[in-house]
Parts: sequence; structure tokens; C-alpha cells
Amino acid sequence: MAPLRISFLIRSVYDLLPSNANLVRWGKKEDPTCPLCQGRQTTEHVLSSCKIALSQGRYTWRHNRVLQELAAIISTAKGETTLPNTNALIFTTEGALSHGTEGR
Ligand SMILES: [Zn+2]
Repeated sequence: MAPLRISFLIRSVYDLLPSNANLVRWGKKEDPTCPLCQGRQTTEHVLSSCKIALSQGRYTWRHNRVLQELAAIISTAKGETTLPNTNALIFTTEGALSHGTEGR
């Protein structure tokens, strides 16, 4: 795993990412609010709890980007010479049928 990814993972687990709440705690900023929803912007809030980010599909977009990376890695591991067109991949929830809607 790339060093920056490991660093991000460790800092997210120990709540050491520069969320607005942490920047206030570290004396680097005075306002801990989320610019999207005006709630308190903690690491958890940024990664999974902001209702505005959820309503804008930001978590679905991030989720699908991870799946696209996995699809490319699997394709490479299978020895395929051409990578899949990850922009054309449509992800659906477990048990759902794909009807051309993204990740619903
Ligand atoms: Zn928010």
C-alpha cells in the first residue's frame, strides 16, 4: 500500500485528520462547522455522516471509485491486456437488479 494511503488510514482511525473540529482543537482554526451542512465537522462527519454530502451522492461516488479501482486490479490480475472501461461500470446494491441506475 502506498505510504500516503497508510498515513491517511492511520490518521483516520486515530482521528488525526485535519477536520475542522480537529483544527479548532489544535488551535489552527476557530470555526468547527461543516461548510456543507453547518454541523460539527469531525472526521466521522466527513467520512460518513454529513447529510448534505449523502444527499449529493458524494459517498456513492467515493464508493464507486473504490470499486472501479478494484475492477482494474482484478482485470490486471486476471492477465487481461485491456483494462475495463470503468466509466461504463454500473454498480448495484446486493440483491438488486441493474436497470442502468448507479449504485441504488
Ligand atoms: Zn456536513
